Amino acid sequence: MTTENRYIHNALKQVRIHAACSSIQGFSISGLSTYLQFPEMNFCVDMGECPLTATPIDHVFLTHAHGDHARCIMRHNSLRKMMGVERDSVYYVPESICEGAKAWIKAEAMFEGVSETKFRYPEIEPVTAGTRIPLRYRKDLVLEPFEVRHSVPAMGATVLLHKKKLKDEFLGKSANEIIELRKNGVEVTREVYEPQLSFMGDCLGESLLDHPDVFKSKVLVTECTFLDKDEEQMAFKKGHTHLSSIVKALNELGDGVKCEQIVLTHFSMKYSEKHILDTLAKNIPEKFKERIVAFV
Ligand SMILES: [Zn+2]
Ligand SMILES: [Zn+2]
Repeated sequence: MTTENRYIHNALKQVRIHAACSSIQGFSISGLSTYLQFPEMNFCVDMGECPLTATPIDHVFLTHAHGDHARCIMRHNSLRKMMGVERDSVYYVPESICEGAKAWIKAEAMFEGVSETKFRYPEIEPVTAGTRIPLRYRKDLVLEPFEVRHSVPAMGATVLLHKKKLKDEFLGKSANEIIELRKNGVEVTREVYEPQLSFMGDCLGESLLDHPDVFKSKVLVTECTFLDKDEEQMAFKKGHTHLSSIVKALNELGDGVKCEQIVLTHFSMKYSEKHILDTLAKNIPEKFKERIVAFV
C-alpha cells in the first residue's frame, strides 16, 4: 500500500475533465468510491459518494450493488428533498438487483425511523440488456444497457443522442420544397442514434471485446483496476480489468476505435498517481496515447 495518499485517495475531492460528450466530475478509486457526474447530460453513473454537485442531476445509473458504487443512492434522493428539489430523480438499476435494492432502501428508511405509512420508494427504473430507454427528462438521450462480467451481476451502458436527420434523397432540396413535401405527407427525415458515451462499470477486461461497439462512442469510460505485469491473474480472479486487456482491445480494433477520449477509472488504491501515469505512458500504444485520460 502506498503512503502517498494525497488527494487521489480523497473521495470527496473531485477530479474534473472536459470530455467530448460532457464534462466529467467525480471520483473513482477501487474499493474507496466511484461516482461520475456528466452535468451537461443531466446524468450520473454510480453514487459511491454524493457531493452537493450531484444533487441537481436527475438521472442516476447504478452499474452494480457493490457498496463503494451504490451506498449513496438514497443520500442523493434525500439530499434533493432536503434542498427542495421537487422533481423526482430517476434511478436506473439492473433488473437482476432491483428487488435487493428496494429491500435495502426500505430497511435504511426504517433504520432512520421513517414510519411504514410515510415510506415511499424513489423512482427506480429496472433496466435490461439490449433495450433502449429514453432518459426521463432528456428524451433526446437514450440509454442502452449491456451486461458485463464482474464478480456480481453488473452492467455498463451506452448513451445515444437521438436525432432526426433529413433523408439523403432530400439533401439538395430548398426549405420551401421540404415544407411542400411535408404538407403532402412525405416522411422527409430518418431517425439517427449517435453514441455519445459508453461506460463499462466494474468488469473483466474481456468485457470490452464482448461489446466492441463501445469503441464507437465519442467517449468511453472503462475501469483499469490493475496495472502491473504480475497482476493479470489477480485481475481475473477479482473480476476486474488489467491494463493489458485494454491494450489488447485497442490493438485488435485499431482504426475501429472511434472514441475521441477513453477515460480510465477505478485504479487500485495501492498505486500512486505517479505510478499510474508512468505505467500508462509506458504501455499505451503510441497511436492511442493522446486519447487516453487517467481519471485521477
Ligand atoms: Zn468497484
Ligand atoms: Zn465491483
